[in-house]
Amino acid sequence: MADPRIPREYSQQQSPTPANPPEKPPRFGERAKFLPVAFLVSTMVLLYTVYMTFHIMPMLQNDLPANQQDHERRHRGVLQMLFFHLVTGMMSICYVRSILEHPGEIPDNDPVWAYTGDGRTHADSNQLASINLQEMKKSGDRRHCKWCGKYKPDRCHHCRVCRTCILKMDHHCPWIYNCVGFYNYKYFFLLLFYGVIDLHFIAFTMTESVIGTWDLNTPFATMFFVLFGETLSIFLGILISAFFIFHIWLLMRAMTTIEFCEKKMPKGGKEVAADVGSVYDLGPFGNMRGILGQNPLTWLIPIEPGIGDGLNYVTAETRLTKDMEAGKGIRKKTHQKVQRMPAGGRDQATNYSAGDSSSPRAANRF
Ligand SMILES: [Zn+2]
Ligand SMILES: [Zn+2]
Repeated sequence: MADPRIPREYSQQQSPTPANPPEKPPRFGERAKFLPVAFLVSTMVLLYTVYMTFHIMPMLQNDLPANQQDHERRHRGVLQMLFFHLVTGMMSICYVRSILEHPGEIPDNDPVWAYTGDGRTHADSNQLASINLQEMKKSGDRRHCKWCGKYKPDRCHHCRVCRTCILKMDHHCPWIYNCVGFYNYKYFFLLLFYGVIDLHFIAFTMTESVIGTWDLNTPFATMFFVLFGETLSIFLGILISAFFIFHIWLLMRAMTTIEFCEKKMPKGGKEVAADVGSVYDLGPFGNMRGILGQNPLTWLIPIEPGIGDGLNYVTAETRLTKDMEAGKGIRKKTHQKVQRMPAGGRDQATNYSAGDSSSPRAANRF
């Protein structure tokens, strides 16, 4: 009987085998899924137009001769316009990059990740030694995706909308017609950052124009659009601020939205200690570097995403081992071999802290 949680299109899909690899759906293949993007772009354009037409342009007083202009007000208008365009420009770049940047997939034709279905692997022991998996199934087997026919790296989940496995999947975001994952998380995070600044800036500076509309001579259209712009920016500002604060909290704790949900709503309904951290937590600075990039000077610029390849993750434990090895100039594998034993399910389980989001119990939910 078909699993009711699996959409019909998937339940009818033939199970992929190495000889029958699943066909990759084209990206941006469904026009209807561009609707939320079109809606968001229209909202941005509308707010931009309202702010420029009913706030900045009146402040610039271009229609008045120079000797009749309020120079102090015009100066403020120029500064506000420059800052507004700088932030809006950055936000637009982040938005486009969030949409276009692929969040990351499991590599094709890589013996390390190819799922054979019979427990054997085409990878040699050196290749397997190069990965350091933290998340395994309860049985001790490696997690795999039955739709993609591949073994899953840590933090990777199958997205039913994108119909592929996404590296370090955070969530599927319809507003960018893309998943938020390993390679585009920085752009998504900065999109929220610049969006919050832009909206609060609009709401804060436009109060001057709102007060100005109390003048009885103000045309109705001006009053309407100024109040509309102010209300919209406050409403969206609060909404996106809450979302952004949540993502800062996640970033500080090195968690994805999926990992947060799995911790909050464990499958077996088991009680989970709220203060149990993520196994990938490298401290606030380490977590920020992992997402925003090696160099703090580029953290707020939508270039150079975080550290790593999305397939292997540094944990506090592996970092310590690496640091020690770097000091000695040798590469020791003993510790990693214990973690990689495919049949030693219980050995593997010792790598997880109780109720951790990366626990085997939670491993195959998505
Ligand atoms: Zn998959
Ligand atoms: Zn997706």
